Amino acid sequence: MLKKLTWYRIVRALTPIAYAVLLVKGYMSKNLAYMIILLSATLLGGAWFCGWLCPFGFAQEWLGKLGRLLRLPRLRLPAKVAKWVNLLRYILFGLSFLGLALVLLIQSPFASFMGIVDQNMSYISKTAWILLGTFLGLSLFIDRPFCRYFCPEGARYGVFSLARLFTITRDEEKCVSCKKCDIKCPSQIEISTRPAVRNAQCINCMECIAACPVKGTLKFSWAFKKK
Ligand code: SF4
Ligand code: SF4
Repeated sequence: MLKKLTWYRIVRALTPIAYAVLLVKGYMSKNLAYMIILLSATLLGGAWFCGWLCPFGFAQEWLGKLGRLLRLPRLRLPAKVAKWVNLLRYILFGLSFLGLALVLLIQSPFASFMGIVDQNMSYISKTAWILLGTFLGLSLFIDRPFCRYFCPEGARYGVFSLARLFTITRDEEKCVSCKKCDIKCPSQIEISTRPAVRNAQCINCMECIAACPVKGTLKFSWAFKKK
């Protein structure tokens, strides 16, 4: 079934490719201006890197689309379990400061994938190749399995995004409580019960807005509504 073509779906399909090209050309690594812009954008409006730029997130998302196309079963953890499993990436993020993270010991699939994009595969170990293949395979059945549960990079942007001034907001008067937004959210965020999304797992994919049947109910707007 073809999805409604929205401008952000088109842009989101192109920005990770543009990012990968700039990465290969050496414009991204250790570029201070890029880091400042990205961090400011995260503080202002959420984890844009995860949803709009990351080539590994892009690969997982498109494998998920392929899984849907092939009608493979979709696996979702029960919401209560997912809440706790989500914490894993923040623990790995915290451990990375101590130099202890497992992800750094056996090499993160994120780093391996970026190495492939950057055509520098010399440092990818056998274990790292297996891990990368496992997560890419899992992406056929689970929405962004590495991003959501294991990525310390995503955890960093997620933590900063908690301060966001702009976010997905819900007009409670227009909402018909169909929960289509919740079903569509790849991060399993419960949007249908809150006035605004303030959740470190949100990747600004805008799929909730596209799924909502009542126009104007969900918007990307100022996060703090007047009472
Ligand atoms: S569907 Fe909405 S709430 Fe869920 S990650 Fe995407 S933008 Fe965030
Ligand atoms: S999809 Fe729209 S109408 Fe349905 S629960 Fe979500 S916000 Fe409400």
